[in-house]
Amino acid sequence: HVRSRRQRQMCIRDRGKLLEVQAVGRDDTELQKARQMLNQSAKMAVLGEMATGLAHEINQPLNVMRIALTNTLKGVENGSANPEYLKNKLGRIEQQITRAAKIINHMRIFGRRSEVEDDLFSPDDAIEGAVTLIREGELVRDIDLTLQLCGTPQVRGHADQLEQVIINLLVNAKDALLGARDKRPELEPSILLRSDCEGDKVIVQVQDNAGGIDPLLLDRVFDPFFTTKPVGKGTGLGLSVSYGLVNQMGGKLSVSNQHGGACFRIELPAVCLLYTSPSPRDRQKS
Ligand code: ADP
Repeated sequence: HVRSRRQRQMCIRDRGKLLEVQAVGRDDTELQKARQMLNQSAKMAVLGEMATGLAHEINQPLNVMRIALTNTLKGVENGSANPEYLKNKLGRIEQQITRAAKIINHMRIFGRRSEVEDDLFSPDDAIEGAVTLIREGELVRDIDLTLQLCGTPQVRGHADQLEQVIINLLVNAKDALLGARDKRPELEPSILLRSDCEGDKVIVQVQDNAGGIDPLLLDRVFDPFFTTKPVGKGTGLGLSVSYGLVNQMGGKLSVSNQHGGACFRIELPAVCLLYTSPSPRDRQKS
């Protein structure tokens, strides 16, 4: 439309003019730092709980090595140790060193602070990592722990944090199971840990048969400092920290009572790797 200058001025007067756009920026460094510290203390609490079991697990290879060395020394002193015998004994010692180093390395990786940058990883690897630590820490000694892994696609986040969440859920399941068995000695405590794919989501579930959570408390278990464990045992932080960690990965953590126990469900968005068609040069090469 062609408008006269006066008409244009009237239009502006009627509608008003956009004079400026204002933006507000907020720096959440302090919040992020506090969250990282909380995650780290929760991790250390898990390692603390496993310390006795891990110490025992590292002591085993040390004992085997001590016996192998004592026998080798005796063999060398009385001249019965031929090269074949020595090779065999040294091989055993090397195996034990590898075993102890693996345990220590896993603890070191688990204990350190998470990187700031996200990464791509398969939840199945985090599940296996968590189960190895839990078994090394002897936390599920009298419990039948079954793993059902589906070969999950990758998700975005930190593998050690998902490992931490799974360990928290396993430790809780273990506590609930041991408590339930005290009341019902005939109970055969079991945990089923499985991964599944549902559409573009990866699902990880921890199911136990300890009787479940009181329906009146179901909504409260993710609250910080909510615990039903005796003073000195429970901090009430495990589930609230786990909830935050799964949230940071763009996922959801929920709980329901089913199959005679509690079922914790982690839902994570799978990362679809976009297919890029090969460049003409690559095509020629192949
Ligand atoms: P904490 O383990 O220190 O108590 P959590 O936040 O990990 O803290 O758990 C909060 C509460 O949730 C527990 O005290 C317990 O009452 C309940 N809970 C968690 N997992 C289970 C489970 N598998 N079976 C029954 N109750 C559970």
